[in-house]
Amino acid sequence: MDDAMLEIRGASVSYGAVRAVSDLDLTVGAGEVVAVLGANGAGKTTTLRAITALVPYAGSIRFDGDEVSAVGTEELARRGLIHVPEGRHIFGSLSVHENLLMGLPARAGRTGGYTVDDVYDLFPPLVALRNRSGWALSGGEQQMVAVGRALVAAPRLLLLDEPSLGLAPIVVAAVYRALREVAKTTPMLVVEQNTGAVLDLCDRGVVLADGRQVVEGTAAELGGRRDLLDSYLGQRVLDEAEA
Ligand code: ATP
Repeated sequence: MDDAMLEIRGASVSYGAVRAVSDLDLTVGAGEVVAVLGANGAGKTTTLRAITALVPYAGSIRFDGDEVSAVGTEELARRGLIHVPEGRHIFGSLSVHENLLMGLPARAGRTGGYTVDDVYDLFPPLVALRNRSGWALSGGEQQMVAVGRALVAAPRLLLLDEPSLGLAPIVVAAVYRALREVAKTTPMLVVEQNTGAVLDLCDRGVVLADGRQVVEGTAAELGGRRDLLDSYLGQRVLDEAEA
């Protein structure tokens, strides 16, 4: 693809004898939001770890045309490939505001994007929590801080690992409402098990099962195949309407 920001061709990842991802083909173009859906153990996190050069892979994964394994994790972040990992990983001993400021170094001179004040506008619940320590936040508040910190880094491509994980439906709805706003300016690759939430955000997506791509399509096409998706995801997923 000519203008793909991220281009994955025939990528595979193994942990010893375990083949976690097999022969994955996936692209994210400028201005696109792409979802990777799958059940526990399907290979979603491993895919993000390969994209950020945290694990070795076979095949090709290019960000802006450069093979990510040759660029390396830290330089990829400096170039604007910003990863919000599963489990948020915010700093418990730092305040909300200090956590948000931690996004600034990864800006590496990029202008535009979100300021810390923009993040407070995006996530109003964080305003009153500005001085609260990270360890005293709820899961939803931590997720808002983790996404906010990533936005302060002025991502050129934002990678999100299960932003809905462990959150109540009403909190999932709030986080995804904000992500839909972010999507107007920032391309994303979002890994999820929550089909309902992510299909309202993405342009298109793929479903992984046992590390293999088993279904792909536009959000509308995937939305029309919910029974098939739910069977691959091994669960009835929450619909945002329940929130
Ligand atoms: P989850 O939603 O549970 O995080 P996932 O779709 O992100 O699942 P991965 O974490 O990528 O899946 O795991 C894919 C496969 O690789 C699983 O079989 C898992 O047990 C295995 N795996 C993941 N990390 C390792 C590791 N460090 N060593 C060995 N096997 C691993």
